[in-house]
Amino acid sequence: MPIPMTKQKTFLKYLIVASISSYAFFSPTQKVLARDAPQPNHTLTTQEAVNRAYNNYKSTTDGSNASYIPYLEKANKKLYGIVIVTIDGKIFKAGDSDYSFPVESISKVFTLAHVLKIQGAKNLQNKIGVNATGLPFNSALAIELNNDKLTGSPPPGNPLVNAGAIATASLVEGKSFEEKWNTVIKTASAFAGHPLSLNKDVYDSEMADNQHNLAIAILLKSYNYLYADSTETIDLYTRECSYNITAKDLAVMGATLANGGNNPLTHQNVVDEETSMRVLAVMATAGLYNTSGEWLYNVGLPATSGVGGGIMAVVPGKMAIAVYSSPLDPAGNSVRGQLAIQSIAHDLGISIFKKK
Ligand code: GLN
Repeated sequence: MPIPMTKQKTFLKYLIVASISSYAFFSPTQKVLARDAPQPNHTLTTQEAVNRAYNNYKSTTDGSNASYIPYLEKANKKLYGIVIVTIDGKIFKAGDSDYSFPVESISKVFTLAHVLKIQGAKNLQNKIGVNATGLPFNSALAIELNNDKLTGSPPPGNPLVNAGAIATASLVEGKSFEEKWNTVIKTASAFAGHPLSLNKDVYDSEMADNQHNLAIAILLKSYNYLYADSTETIDLYTRECSYNITAKDLAVMGATLANGGNNPLTHQNVVDEETSMRVLAVMATAGLYNTSGEWLYNVGLPATSGVGGGIMAVVPGKMAIAVYSSPLDPAGNSVRGQLAIQSIAHDLGISIFKKK
């Protein structure tokens, strides 16, 4: 349904305010990782490394729940779960590994995998972009700064910030809204290895206050970088952010990417290896938004996170490490999640930059 001109003007006015307020909301990033890296212990087994990370950060209370989504603000900050799934299907876990929470931005990765498979690598690069924005995940300003007239990059930036993820959602094919939603949830379910379902409460909670993302969609449309109707795309994007997962699901989803697109538990080929490799490249560039560089520097693994408190890191050819803990740093990444994954990666001596 087209949006009338007067409404569009109101949204563009909103956008200017929202660009500024997204800066105010995301105050300068605390150095979560550099601050608190323990001495690695290379003698630990995988389960011992998981236990160590669990015990070391069990009582960490830093960070705060996402306050701009009422449902997430109420999350129990004590819940904390860590899961590793290897590419041969072994599972190591500690804490609340089976607690269901909203996937939020982590879903962007799986919709990206589908759209990349359908559209191909060149189209994705030209229609969405694959550069880090260096700005908060919900930045509207980044759309202007990435404007291809100035930089040669497409305005959506990359598929993991909101602008790029909204543009990516607009490329999901289907004759009806339901068909598109089915594609999104089926793809994510194949990654997880079982049917995932929508958390209606979080979906309603986000839809009730979605002006910022709608403004982003309308701005993209004005630059011809949104490939479907803006209101329908925002509905699809919000649903995509609102399905439930557990830390265990997340580790299986990540292990599927570690395994070249083949789910290590169901053995289904969810995507081909090239798609999987490109998804991991985008995660390495932009998965932790404006702190992706510091993350890669300190931990050395492609990762992706959501304001629901989930975070998933992938060790290509080996495993995935997933954590749930709702309190976030100012960039919107789980504090305990980052600390736990860093600790495990250091103890197990894993990094994509390592000689072997
Ligand atoms: N649904 C959230 C939003 O659009 C997702 C953000 C996130 O997880 N970083 O703001």
